[in-house]
Amino acid sequence: MNSPDLAGIGMTSQRTRERLVERLAERGIRNREVLQAMRTTPRHLFLDEAMAHRAYEDTALPIGYQQTLSQPYVVARMTELLLAGGPLGRVLEIGSGSGYQTAILAQLVDNVFAVERIKPLLDASRRRLRTLRLRNVRFRHADGSLGWPELAPFDGILGAAAPAEVPADLLAQLAPGGRLVLPVGTQTQHLHVITRTDDGFSTEVVEAVRFVPLRPGTQR
Ligand code: SAH
Repeated sequence: MNSPDLAGIGMTSQRTRERLVERLAERGIRNREVLQAMRTTPRHLFLDEAMAHRAYEDTALPIGYQQTLSQPYVVARMTELLLAGGPLGRVLEIGSGSGYQTAILAQLVDNVFAVERIKPLLDASRRRLRTLRLRNVRFRHADGSLGWPELAPFDGILGAAAPAEVPADLLAQLAPGGRLVLPVGTQTQHLHVITRTDDGFSTEVVEAVRFVPLRPGTQR
């Protein structure tokens, strides 16, 4: 059997994706560039064949290793929040998983630096971005709670796994005016938007979310 490819799963892929984008707009996503990136990015390529037919539902889906591909609404919302301060140069992504959020970011900012702690997920995401010819991304197999100090500072940092508290290393690697968008908490989690100001940080707690936990160390 053929694996899902760029042509899409049957003829319905573009149409179902269009419907998903309409749903996102109804749910309050306003940024046109974000909606356009979600319209043109084939989410089914980021899933195993057995899951691909559900790719354009607005729901999180399993990608193996007890991890999930984030819900499209959450991807759109976090990207919109990250971009709310204007165009971004260098963005650090923590917990890139399938690479879907990475692919969306790569179309909207200059450079993406993606860190993932599970090696097979990282390898698969790297292949997918190559297939999509998104070349402004560097991947690293590491514990993202430490950031990527050699490449800091970043204009934006986006995390897709929830720590109990905001990691100090991530704050330290934020450029002046830079924004960190991250789920925080254990049982209940909330999306935090933290901006580096002239004299410290300002925090906005946006909405309740559900993410996998940010875990220490790496996995082969
Ligand atoms: N946006 C991704 C989300 C994947 S789920 C997607 O849509 O596919 C969150 C990811 O964070 C998982 O792949 C998990 O392995 C990863 N993760 C958890 N803790 C991490 C850490 N400390 N450093 C890097 N990645 C981490």
